[in-house]
Amino acid sequence: MTEATDPAILTPVLSAPWDDMQPWRLDTYLKHDGYQGLKKALAKHQDEVIQTVKDAGLRGRGGAGFPTGMKWGFIPQGDGKPHYLVVNADESEPGTCKDIPLMYANPHVLIEGVIIAAYAIRSNHAFIYLRGEVVPVLRRLQEAVKEAYAAGYLGENVLGSGFDLELTVHAGAGAYICGEETALLDSLEGRRGQPRLRPPFPAVEGLYASPTCVNNVESIASVPAIMHKGVEWFRSFGSEKSPGFTLYSLSGHVKRPGQYEAPLGVTLRQLLDLAGGVREGHRIKFWTPGGSSTPMFTDEHLDVPLDYEGVGAAGSMLGTKALQIFDETVCVVRAVLRWTEFYAHESCGKCTPCREGTYWLVQILERLEKGEGTEADLETLLDVADNINGKSFCALGDGAASPIFSSLKYFRDEYVEHLAHRGCPFDPAASTVWA
Ligand code: NAD
Ligand code: SF4
Repeated sequence: MTEATDPAILTPVLSAPWDDMQPWRLDTYLKHDGYQGLKKALAKHQDEVIQTVKDAGLRGRGGAGFPTGMKWGFIPQGDGKPHYLVVNADESEPGTCKDIPLMYANPHVLIEGVIIAAYAIRSNHAFIYLRGEVVPVLRRLQEAVKEAYAAGYLGENVLGSGFDLELTVHAGAGAYICGEETALLDSLEGRRGQPRLRPPFPAVEGLYASPTCVNNVESIASVPAIMHKGVEWFRSFGSEKSPGFTLYSLSGHVKRPGQYEAPLGVTLRQLLDLAGGVREGHRIKFWTPGGSSTPMFTDEHLDVPLDYEGVGAAGSMLGTKALQIFDETVCVVRAVLRWTEFYAHESCGKCTPCREGTYWLVQILERLEKGEGTEADLETLLDVADNINGKSFCALGDGAASPIFSSLKYFRDEYVEHLAHRGCPFDPAASTVWA
């Protein structure tokens, strides 16, 4: 077996209980060393817990890769204000689908991580802000929270430690922008979710103007194993600057789409081997490393390490590790149109470059698909994207510009073909993804 096809690259930690019967139940989780990390954390001083997460080098799994321990360390101490922990479970990026299965299969690993994180930052009230549409996950989280209260992991005097913690699960109303951390906080406070100016970052002025740590589900769920098994164990996965394991979500034209838990720094070629490769008789045309906000790559990039130094250095972000795979039957212009329609629909309207720019991008892409475009439209696309990128109020604008830049970089010929052909040269029925 070659290294590329070696299933040993799989490192089931977060996903370890997923194949058990009813993995969401507390008794199943306890069989997988559940709540052992919490016991070890509560025996330490809060600053020691933060230092352990810093030493482990855990980087935020929500997309940006910001060091989790450093973020916890930003929460000011002795300020007399309440502190809050908010878990960002509003997963909505196109292609991104790791946090929802994680919470659905094993809600207790998140709850255990929440208790450890809240203890470390001295917070007595934590929130899980969940994407509103996923009602079965909401119910499962609520049940698990009830179990955790009954077992003494939540509430007053957690496991006799003297630490008190309330945990509230809150369902949003299904707006993509509420995954942006400050819009999420506005929404949690009962307002219309729109991004706030940063700085001040939430660590200084967040929920109810108090110091708040906003962390992604997978980041928090990774903490119990670090506390239980130690820094060296965690650092034995991944690379020096991107240590640990993570969930990669493969979707689109692969034989076995799904979640693959492996170290940071593996390549798409290795993951494709595990997923059975591209569907029979076809070849990969383009892919995204981390959802639609990250630039698209081609088959030339199959061996780029999926970490912050590899794919990050190649001009992309690792993002949410949502690997969307498209074969040669997919029209690039059509795919970019679909994503851009999403961004135009989800733009919150607060700033002009994004509100107006995403609208115009859709108009131009539609023209090109219908065969009504001109050569000048290609330059206008770039110009509009350039006026959104870095000039918008939040990362949604940059995300919308990203597929325009990368598709014109790698597939300009295909745009030109739309002009020559007076419309889309692809048969939509040939693609199972965009038909
Ligand atoms: P960012 O780099 O601006 O910030 C990352 C985190 O670090 C934030 O929590 C921020 O508060 C904190 N931070 C950064 N600098 C700080 C400072 N000086 N002091 C205190 N805290 C500081 O990234 P972002 O705009 O929050 O997020 C963008 C990412 O979100 C993208 O990488 C994208 O992939 C991802 N994303 C994910 C989804 C999803 O569904 N999971 C959806 C859209 C976007
Ligand atoms: Fe709203 Fe878009 Fe501006 Fe973000 S970039 S604030 S989503 S209009």
